[in-house]
Amino acid sequence: MAKRKSINKKMRNTRRGKVRAKKASSVPKEELKRELKISAIDEGTVIDHIPTDATFKVAEILDLENHKGIVSIATNLQSKRIGKKGIVKVGGKSLTQDEVNKIAIVAPEATVNIIKNYDVKEKIKVKTPEIIDNVVKCSNPICITNNEQVPTKFYIARKDPLKIKCHYCERIMGKEDIEIV
Ligand SMILES: [Zn+2]
Repeated sequence: MAKRKSINKKMRNTRRGKVRAKKASSVPKEELKRELKISAIDEGTVIDHIPTDATFKVAEILDLENHKGIVSIATNLQSKRIGKKGIVKVGGKSLTQDEVNKIAIVAPEATVNIIKNYDVKEKIKVKTPEIIDNVVKCSNPICITNNEQVPTKFYIARKDPLKIKCHYCERIMGKEDIEIV
C-alpha cells in the first residue's frame, strides 16, 4: 500500500516536470518524444525567413545567450522563398524597433511574428533603415569609430546586394564584411 502511494506521487511529479536529471531510459517514451521536438511558444516572437548564414547573427543581435525564456534556433530549413532559411523563436520577448532594424540589416527578407496564446497576432516585414546607427562595426581599422568612443553610422549605398557606407571614413562594406557592434 505504502509503496503504491509513493509511485503515484512520483508520477505526479513527473507530469509537473519536477523530476530533474532522470536517465533517458526511465523517462516515458511519449514524454521523450515531446521533449525532442522544438516546442511552440505561447507568447513571444518568431523570426522567420532568415538567410541560413545570418541565423546566429540574429541570435547575437537579440542577445539570446542571456535570455531567460525559451529560445529555439533552427537553420538549414527548406524555404521556397529564399532557398535555405533559419528560424529563431524567443519565448516571453517582444522586439524593440531598434532590434527589428538591426535584424533587417542581416536578414532583409525576414518576417517577425508576434505570438500570443500560441497564435500569430501580428506579422511584421522588416525594412532596411536608410541610416544605420551604432549597429555595424566599421571594417576600416583606422576609422575614428574603431579608435575613439564614437558610435558608428552607416548609410545604405545599395539595397540589393546590400552595400553600406561609413559616415566617417566612407568605406563601403558588403554583406560579408558586416559585423554587429
Ligand atoms: Zn568607418
